[in-house]
Amino acid sequence: MVDLHSQYLKIKEEIDDAVLKVIDSSAFINGPETKLFAEELAKYLNVKHVIPCANGTEALQISMMALGLKPGDEVITTTFTFIATAEVIALLHLTPVLVDVQPNTYNIDVNAIRKAITPKTKAIVPVHLFGQCANMEEIMKIAREYNLYVIEDTCQALGTEYHFTDGVVKKAGTIGNVGATSFFPSKNLGCYGDGGAMMTNDDALAEQIRTIANHGSKVKYYHDYVGVNSRLDSIQAAILRIKLRHLDEYIKARQEAAEKYNKAFENCANLVLPRIAAYTSHIFHQYTLLTRDINRDELQKYLAEKGIPSAIYYPVPLHQQKAYIDPRYKDGDFPISEMLCKGVISLPMHTELDDEQINYITDSVLEFVGNN
Ligand SMILES: *Cc1c(COP(=O)(O)O)cnc(C)c1O
Repeated sequence: MVDLHSQYLKIKEEIDDAVLKVIDSSAFINGPETKLFAEELAKYLNVKHVIPCANGTEALQISMMALGLKPGDEVITTTFTFIATAEVIALLHLTPVLVDVQPNTYNIDVNAIRKAITPKTKAIVPVHLFGQCANMEEIMKIAREYNLYVIEDTCQALGTEYHFTDGVVKKAGTIGNVGATSFFPSKNLGCYGDGGAMMTNDDALAEQIRTIANHGSKVKYYHDYVGVNSRLDSIQAAILRIKLRHLDEYIKARQEAAEKYNKAFENCANLVLPRIAAYTSHIFHQYTLLTRDINRDELQKYLAEKGIPSAIYYPVPLHQQKAYIDPRYKDGDFPISEMLCKGVISLPMHTELDDEQINYITDSVLEFVGNN
């Protein structure tokens, strides 16, 4: 699905040098590399604060803790996402309120958000799924109207641009109260281990996030809050500083690969191509097709036999996950998400796909589905 080794070889000298420098300095935790990376990412995103942490899941969790969400508070999110989004809501004893997605973008349905709001609702967590933004202009309007926090799950969309109707352009993760992202190796900006970050323009919230991520402490060994230990280590930060300089070129490579996939499949009635809303760019963290009137699982098997990896993001929506079964929800409540889980398939997507690979993949898909 990804080719991290070929990508590494292209920047090997720079990376090896940076990693060895950190080892030589012995500043493994909270060293200058982490601070510099946070500053450089803030500049790239045009946001006031970037606070690095250990991974994307903790970025979501710390964001919710720093906003002061309390047990029983309702948090609205989509049922068609990676488990981490709902996991941290459950861990904090908040109440996840699930809603369906839009049939074209697979992102959270804003009308469904409105219907799900109750007096207990405190926050909305839109997920910028597969690399395009949810409808942030509408979501921010709803948030203002009902006085709700917005936590953007930006784990799949670091670098995506959102276009407001007044012409303003902002990067994903910098629009709500706080954005949470992941530097898991396969993400668009990935490190060589685990990593994550939160971004915000709110000075007070940034301070609270820093404190929560540091054992609830502002002054060493004095603890004002129950916090967590969540840090990005210096080696990962040094790697990320180098890869951040390549991020726009990495995004472009993914977009070009997606363009070639689209071209190959454009006349295929059995495949629905990724559809991009007018208000967002798409950085193709995943290239995800929706199959129609063919057996998706057989397609996956066929591709596997030809040596082509593929993945199902996601096979089961949150409300049907064993750990999250809830009497409030039953099968059929979120028909679009349930349909997507049965029909989607994601093809290999990374920065190193060449034409020969893409042609082999598209030819193989078309052999199975037919080109009409
Ligand atoms: C990857 C991902 C996460 C979690 O990130 P980790 O760094 O693996 O903890 C959360 N939400 C979404 C949508 C993701 O894709």
